[in-house]
Amino acid sequence: MKLLENKVAFVSGASRGIGKGIALELAKHGAHVAFTYRNSQTEAEAIEKELSALGVKAKAYQSNAADFTQTQTIVDDVIATFGGLDIVVNNAGITKDNLLMRMNEEAWDEVIDTNLKSVFNVVKAAQRQLLKQRSGSIINISSVVGKSGNPGQANYAASKAGMNGLTKSIAKELGSRGIRCNSVAPGFIETEMTHGLTEEQKKLWLENIPLKRAGSPQDVANLVVFLASDMSTYITGQVINVCGGMQT
Ligand code: NDP
Repeated sequence: MKLLENKVAFVSGASRGIGKGIALELAKHGAHVAFTYRNSQTEAEAIEKELSALGVKAKAYQSNAADFTQTQTIVDDVIATFGGLDIVVNNAGITKDNLLMRMNEEAWDEVIDTNLKSVFNVVKAAQRQLLKQRSGSIINISSVVGKSGNPGQANYAASKAGMNGLTKSIAKELGSRGIRCNSVAPGFIETEMTHGLTEEQKKLWLENIPLKRAGSPQDVANLVVFLASDMSTYITGQVINVCGGMQT
């Protein structure tokens, strides 16, 4: 029997990068996977096929994670279509970097709404089902900068710090009902999000990583599978780094 056999997972933002890695890894361990994307329809369709080929049920949903009502509709459909919900991975995220002095209101709001309000949206939609089942694992993809802060990323760091506070509150509110909630905080992971960094910026990041390499989506997905599974039933309310030792 596979580790996540017959579990139902929802992953936001899985058309590429870390979310895609997580969706595939959950499926390899036997979970059925519903996932969202914003624009990458062709990629999402290909991933849906890739997931189905692993022998699990899979469904892609186009969405704006920041939209409360849309999220309710999607999560309701996931529960109806898949017959339950066991694993919730809040991964969808964006950056709109700038120094505070130059950051406009739109860049602030967009990042906070996509990265932080989106978690509220999903948890509000999923909560009733998880409570009914008296089980569930919620995993929020945060960032090391949520703990450290980062120049040029005030909006992003604030969204991830907020996510960590939300994680701990959910863990405290829902723990007695068998529902766990943890944050995973990646460091520097090779995806389209980090492709925009200059060579100089990448060099600086790598100098500060004891393991001397960037991480991969697989590195993050491995921890997500562990937190989704019964291997971690006594772990909740934690923020766990996957960062090659960059932050201790
Ligand atoms: P990518 O930019 O590679 O992928 C982002 C994913 O989120 C895509 O699937 C995208 O969909 C989706 N998405 C973006 N906005 C929305 C939205 N409004 N509604 C629904 N889906 C949306 O990012 P990564 O894979 O690098 O990052 C994934 C998560 O990991 C993020 O939360 C990020 O903050 C976090 N993280 C990443 C790090 C890194 O080094 N890469 C480090 C620390 C944390 P579409 O393709 O359709 O646009």
